[in-house]
Amino acid sequence: MPIYSHSKLETFEQCPQKYKFKYIDKIKIKEKPIEAFLGSVVHITLDWLYQQVKQKKLPSIDETIIYYITSWEKEYAPEVYITKQGLKTADYFNMGITFILDYYTKHRPFEDNTLETEKKIEISLDKTNEYKLVGIIDRLVYNKENDEIEIHDYKTANTLPTKDKMDNDRQLALYSIAIKEEFGSNNKIKLIWHYLAFNKKLVSERTDEQLEKLKKETIELIKRIESETEFPTNKSILCNWCPFKKICPAWN
Ligand code: SF4
Repeated sequence: MPIYSHSKLETFEQCPQKYKFKYIDKIKIKEKPIEAFLGSVVHITLDWLYQQVKQKKLPSIDETIIYYITSWEKEYAPEVYITKQGLKTADYFNMGITFILDYYTKHRPFEDNTLETEKKIEISLDKTNEYKLVGIIDRLVYNKENDEIEIHDYKTANTLPTKDKMDNDRQLALYSIAIKEEFGSNNKIKLIWHYLAFNKKLVSERTDEQLEKLKKETIELIKRIESETEFPTNKSILCNWCPFKKICPAWN
């Protein structure tokens, strides 16, 4: 059985044809929407910031912004494209500056007992280990005050989801299954999303019953993917961010 990831499952749900292009035909497209590029540079910067703090070197706000600018320049490529009319590269660059400034100001001195950043995990969905997923946790924290483990995720989207939506979000809930395996099932786990464009934190939790249900649903989804033969297109607004739009039969 191939190993899945949350983004692989999400791609199939969004559009089976996109899934086929990406994971079965393995078509490599260099073009990258600027939103994804901005997200990756912000993630790189926040990862660096917490790595520095771990080494007892608290970077100043200026040093952090310089790191963001340097990473932007280093990673930027002509393949990065703008999806929204009326916006320029500089607008996205400046959005990233604001995200970092706000986050830095709100969370300084970053002493929340971060255990790891960019932590690779493997999630086992069944006892025989047949159905597995892999993932990367942006940041894992042990909150000493509450005796809770926190799974942190950074979001650069420009829409703020409802609490109800996050209470049903799959990605971090799946990640918590792996963390419970690693740290013991009695540990209380908080799921925390940082919506950087709004300088807001959304928090949720899952019961063991909810996680068991999620495992079953995810296995069913994997079975559905494995048995798919048609891979139909699913045209939507999200096609604007699809790297395969140029070769997609729905658009030709
Ligand atoms: S352009 Fe739209 S319909 Fe075509 S593969 Fe991408 S998401 Fe699917």
